[in-house]
Amino acid sequence: MLGGGQLGRMTALAAARLGYRTHVYTPEPDSPCAEVSAAATVADFTDAEALAGFAAAVDVVTLEWENVPPEAAGLLAQRVPVRPGAAVLVVTRDRIREKSFVNCLGIATAPWRPVHSVADLTAALQDLGRPAVLKVARLGYDGKGQVLLGPDTDPEAAWHDLALGQALDAVLEGFVDFACEISVIVARGADGALCSYPAVENQHANHILARTLVPARIAPAVAAEAEAIARRITEALGVVGLLAVEMFVGHDGRVLVNELAPRPHNSGHWTLDACATSQFEQLVRAVCGLPLGATGRLTDAVMENLIGADIERWPELLAAPAARLHLYGKREVRPGRKMGHVTWIGRAVTP
Ligand code: AMP
Repeated sequence: MLGGGQLGRMTALAAARLGYRTHVYTPEPDSPCAEVSAAATVADFTDAEALAGFAAAVDVVTLEWENVPPEAAGLLAQRVPVRPGAAVLVVTRDRIREKSFVNCLGIATAPWRPVHSVADLTAALQDLGRPAVLKVARLGYDGKGQVLLGPDTDPEAAWHDLALGQALDAVLEGFVDFACEISVIVARGADGALCSYPAVENQHANHILARTLVPARIAPAVAAEAEAIARRITEALGVVGLLAVEMFVGHDGRVLVNELAPRPHNSGHWTLDACATSQFEQLVRAVCGLPLGATGRLTDAVMENLIGADIERWPELLAAPAARLHLYGKREVRPGRKMGHVTWIGRAVTP
């Protein structure tokens, strides 16, 4: 497992249930994943010697962090299967490549322009209008590396806020007045077998996922279209493992792709408690060459993230009969840090 966060931890737990031993590779000492893994290598992703030692010790490599340098994935791939592979990471780590890839398949995104300078930004704003969202092309997450340009925002100041004087690749996106945000997680095996989880609805607070409602409150035709889009992208990218596709649903039911993640996704945590096969077990099955498992929803559910001090609600959550509590074992509570989540089983999703 490349990356040592909670996604790796929950995958390692699922792997253990199937009798596998996980070896985690992460730059972070005391990672949530290492705590539940059979072995850990703590080293940087640029450390060729550590990567070689890791490759010699494992049978198959997967990841829980899409920003693993493709060079590291390429190095490992010389010795051991890496699933998903470097070719997928090259696309999904960079918003410019990712959006180009999706649009080339004839699938819609928000209107966007690549931006490398204030001049590009000014021209893109003229094309797309305001409001618009400026996003770094790489390494942005949870709203970090994003600036909203309203009617009065000075493009030069916005560019400076984002670039801080450094060379930068970014995209400007037209602001989408969406009815809701949804996501679909697809699994694909090395033999090309494909399955997808139902579309779920994601609500954000402060740019961080706050809640996932299962199922999404969308028309069946919209859900079917979202699943078809996600499957198409997964096949075209040749993902072996998981692909999470985040989408906006317009007031007219139109689906626009926002972002791809080639790994387990926060919006799939509900599958631990309300599906026959969790997304984590599915990843293990896909990368280990096992048959994929059933993805149907067993019950309605609401997944709530426990962010920062929310973790202090644990006694109350443990006492609630419909609540399934998951804690990530992080030693330090920090504002905005994902500390755990709770799945409310069978909770009817009300409009
Ligand atoms: P991202 O990092 O691209 O997933 O963006 C984080 C969140 O910001 C999304 O889940 C949306 O809630 C919001 N957002 C991002 N891009 C746009 C957009 N073009 N229009 C409206 N809201 C957006």
